[in-house]
Amino acid sequence: MRIVLLGAPGSGKGTQAALLEQRLGVPHISTGVLFRKAVKDQTPLGQRIKTIMDSGDLVPDDLTLELLEERMNRDDTKSGFILDGYPRNLAQAESLNILLEKLGMPVQEAVQIDVDTEEVVARIAKRAAEEGRSDDTEEVVRNRMRVYQEQTAPVVDYYAEQGLLTQVLGTGTIEEVLQLILSVLDQGEADRSD
Ligand code: AMP
Repeated sequence: MRIVLLGAPGSGKGTQAALLEQRLGVPHISTGVLFRKAVKDQTPLGQRIKTIMDSGDLVPDDLTLELLEERMNRDDTKSGFILDGYPRNLAQAESLNILLEKLGMPVQEAVQIDVDTEEVVARIAKRAAEEGRSDDTEEVVRNRMRVYQEQTAPVVDYYAEQGLLTQVLGTGTIEEVLQLILSVLDQGEADRSD
C-alpha cells in the first residue's frame, strides 16, 4: 500500500506512520528523520541544512527530492510505503507524482490527520520536554506552523482534487486514531478492487 500521511507539526503523523509500518509491513519514510540523521552524522548535506532546520523553514526542494529519490529507489519500497513529511509544498507534490509515475508506483491514499492548533502547540511543548528536538522551541514551532499553513496546507487540496484524500480526526487516543486510519485504508483497498 502506498500512502502519504499529511498533518501539521505535532498532529501525530510520525507516531501513526511508525505504527502503520508495523501493521502493514511497509516502510515508514520520513524526510524529517532522514534529515535529522544527516545533521547528527554531520554529513555534507547535514552541515548544509542544520541552520535551516533549526529555524523551522523548509530545506530547499532540490536537496529534499534528491534525498527522497535515493530512499525511494531502495528495494523495500516495492511493497509500498508510508510517506511522512513529504510533500511539504505543491512543487514537491508535483515532483513526487513524476518520480512515482516513473517508478510505476503512484500514491494510492492520502490521509490527513486533523488536529486544532492549540492541541498541536501543547503536544509539541510536551515533545520538546521529552525528546529535546532543537526545532521544538516556541518561536521555531510558531514558524513551523506558519510554514505549514502557507506552504503545506495547499497539498491537502492537491490530493483532494485527485480524489485520493481522506481526513481523520486526530484528537482521540493513539490507538483510536490508528483505527480510524486503518479503516480508511481498508475502505480504499475495497474501492480499488471493485
Ligand atoms: P519533520 O520531522 O517532518 O517535522 O521535519 C523537520 C524539519 O525537517 C522541517 O521543519 C524542515 O526543516 C525539514 N524537512 C522535513 N521534510 C521536509 C520536506 N519535505 N521539505 C523541506 N524540508 C523538510
